[in-house]
Amino acid sequence: MKEDTKSWIERFVAEREWEQFHTPANLAKSIAIEAAELLEHYQWTDDADLSEVQEEIADVLIYTHMLTWKLGLDPDTIMREKLAINERKYPVAKARGKSTRYDKLDGYNNSTKLDGQEKLDGYKSPDNPESQDNPDSPDLPASPDLPANPDCQDNPDSPDLPASPDLPDSQ
Ligand SMILES: [Mg+2]
Repeated sequence: MKEDTKSWIERFVAEREWEQFHTPANLAKSIAIEAAELLEHYQWTDDADLSEVQEEIADVLIYTHMLTWKLGLDPDTIMREKLAINERKYPVAKARGKSTRYDKLDGYNNSTKLDGQEKLDGYKSPDNPESQDNPDSPDLPASPDLPANPDCQDNPDSPDLPASPDLPDSQ
């Protein structure tokens, strides 16, 4: 992103004193909300209006800039770091022309290294070795069975909801 675009976003926020609302959580929610608005233009069609799509992409990018700025992250740096991870997860020889998730690619084995590279299943930051599979770590206990939530049970006092209207085919 160009520096004068970043400055414009930051000035836009500062002039309105909106930074007080821009917690990381609120910005993360806003990114997801704008992404959903983008998706809404493609509901029931692959042929969305480009100008409307453009506005939602811009909203996602603006909020994404605000969040990286808030967290002190450099977008180029974090994208390059993630691209390097993705290159290891999706070796060209195994992933070319496929939309398959990395752990379903031919030859991937949860218990062995992939092509001699770092094990990627449950990949976590190499800065935190405790987050990696560690044979010395004790096994975690199984999750206890949770009691049934009575609010989620069928309630005989609840009125019957009307049937949903027929929706158009999602083709
Ligand atoms: Mg929007």
